[in-house]
Amino acid sequence: SEWRATLLVRETACLTREDRQRVDELVAGNLSALEQLGDRQLIARIKTLAYTLDPHSVVNRTAKATAERFVSCRPAPDTMTYVSALLPVAQGVGVYAALTREADRQRAAGDPRTKGQIMADTFVERTTGQARAEDVRIEVQLIMTDRTLLAGSAEPAVLPGYGMIPAQTARNLVRGGPDTQCTPGPDTQPDKTVHTWLRRLYTEPSTGQLVGMDSRARLVPSGLARFIAVRDQLCRMPWCGAPIRNYDHIRPFHEAGPTTADNLQGLCEACNQAKEAPGWKSTVVTEPPIQPHAREPLTLQPHTVETRTPTGHVYRSTAPPLPGTGHT
Ligand SMILES: [Zn+2]
Repeated sequence: SEWRATLLVRETACLTREDRQRVDELVAGNLSALEQLGDRQLIARIKTLAYTLDPHSVVNRTAKATAERFVSCRPAPDTMTYVSALLPVAQGVGVYAALTREADRQRAAGDPRTKGQIMADTFVERTTGQARAEDVRIEVQLIMTDRTLLAGSAEPAVLPGYGMIPAQTARNLVRGGPDTQCTPGPDTQPDKTVHTWLRRLYTEPSTGQLVGMDSRARLVPSGLARFIAVRDQLCRMPWCGAPIRNYDHIRPFHEAGPTTADNLQGLCEACNQAKEAPGWKSTVVTEPPIQPHAREPLTLQPHTVETRTPTGHVYRSTAPPLPGTGHT
């Protein structure tokens, strides 16, 4: 099938043309044997042949792949998250074996949790170094309006690094209660201590801007840096969207640009360097947008930066919408 042909190409990509043809002959030359192999067995057979024919190129490819190891975090349904790690095979198998061993040990000692639950809890405990999975001691930033926190509004909150979370889940996080929808299940213990340190950030109702902080120093204080990271979330250069690495003075410090939330923006490494090149100019846009209906109260736009490139093109970048701004 087309899929199996893809597998053959993928697994032999590191070999020379002659070796690829040789593997193709050996694998696909005997059709009746080929039809008896499942996809996994087929991959194993191709790999065995590739290792045998050219062990050197496979080792080189492995070294390159090892350099590309990483950990990622992405949203899953029902306010869950996938944390994935791409690891060299021995380490990955080692992680999984360690979690399985611990789950088996605790199950044998009478732990009522399922094997999957114990493995997940152990994963959290050993990664964060805390005694129990539910004792989240790292700082979790949570952006919500006062209406969501105090008045039971259904307006969702934002958890930077994750995205939107339901209002009730946000309230439960703040209360330090179980992270569930109001209905405690049989395995939630109401008396458990939760050390969630939530940095609660409110959006100002009339402007939808986060409330700012000022500093006289050129170096951005960590509190202000965190604030910019929450407001901007990703590199502010239009269409970039890379993770923030630098906090940039929009009007440069040597031109008396202040170290304030207004005059700072989060940029990635590449965009920060590009902006420092001759011919680039950035300014903070302060005028309010035109009001379509004069009777409506005046609303200010979110933090906006105008960037002029050496070619004379002008681009505007607006901080992403936050709870309470009506954009969400
Ligand atoms: Zn960028």
